[in-house]
Amino acid sequence: MKTRDKPVPENFIVEPGGTIGIVGGGQLGRMLALAAARLGLKTCIYSDAADAPAFQVTGQAIAAPYDDLSRLANFGDACDVVTFEFENLPAEAIAHLAQHVPVRPGAYALAITQDRLTEKSFIEKLGLKTAPFFEVSSANEAREAFVSLHGRGVLKTRRLGYDGKGQAKVASAEEAVKAYDSFKGASAILEGFVDFSYEASVVAARGSDGAFAAYDPPENEHENHILRRSTVPSRLTEGQTDEAKAIAKTIGDALEYVGVFAVELFVGRDGDLLVNEIAPRVHNSGHWTLEACQCSQFEQHIRAVAGWPLGDPARHADAVMENVIGAEADAWESLAKSGALHLYGKKDAKPGRKMGHVTRLKSKS
Ligand code: AMP
Repeated sequence: MKTRDKPVPENFIVEPGGTIGIVGGGQLGRMLALAAARLGLKTCIYSDAADAPAFQVTGQAIAAPYDDLSRLANFGDACDVVTFEFENLPAEAIAHLAQHVPVRPGAYALAITQDRLTEKSFIEKLGLKTAPFFEVSSANEAREAFVSLHGRGVLKTRRLGYDGKGQAKVASAEEAVKAYDSFKGASAILEGFVDFSYEASVVAARGSDGAFAAYDPPENEHENHILRRSTVPSRLTEGQTDEAKAIAKTIGDALEYVGVFAVELFVGRDGDLLVNEIAPRVHNSGHWTLEACQCSQFEQHIRAVAGWPLGDPARHADAVMENVIGAEADAWESLAKSGALHLYGKKDAKPGRKMGHVTRLKSKS
């Protein structure tokens, strides 16, 4: 077995015909594979689910657990570069993969963003604004953190939370303790509750040469903790839009990031932009770029990890993207009439499951 990270040669490029490895086989992996195919690149998808939606659109697929180091090694050896749609691979598995193949984004960016505490501390050190936060590793710390907050809070597990899972709103020290106990020993952070005006995000890319490209920030609406709708243009002023893109550039440079990432923002009632979290991957709030931009977030990510020049992120239309969730997919015929419909090839329309999305365009305002 090799023992050191495979060095990434300077000017490393995956040429047409090469193979992009994608860890994770959901809709993001599926749309990445479709974008890669359009650029003449092959994909190999690694997922722990035998019926992963992305397996339907890739030439090579590996179904194995995310901690199976030997299958990960086979996967790495079959690819020219490996990237992620699922960023919660154990650190040991990422380090192991990196011994076999260049990994983009790299282990450092993934380690920082996998853990809400290291992520928030990192954001704060960059001089960017976040909600106040406290580390919580015991019931007593949950109580003390709530007292220090002087107001309502949200307790979140440090790792493996998404779509509101591993999160609880708390309005008293007792509730904070109860919520911590419900996490069954998982360490957490307590964040101050932000009374934001609305939510927005910046989807941006950084190339291996440090080039930077950001899409227009959409305004995002959630229902039951799941993204319902992303709208561009957002209500952000030109100054806030520039600030949002500058925040993304600061983060991308500091992480030495290669690929597409998203920065989720709370827009305060005073106009302040607070960073909620960083997603080290393509993002649901960037799906509208498939129709409204010359180069979608998926193509942009493939370009970046393959060492190609970044594409133009300019938006040529206004757009509203809505997720198709659970049984809403049964109405696929009327959805297909209403806009650009994407269905992800998932069999079971479980409640809360993202089955597809629709993007509706309007002339640019
Ligand atoms: P997250 O998993 O951190 O992205 O949180 C999911 C959603 O919960 C966010 O998009 C917000 O709508 C809400 N939320 C998370 N953290 C806070 C907070 N500190 N204050 C208010 N709302 C929050």
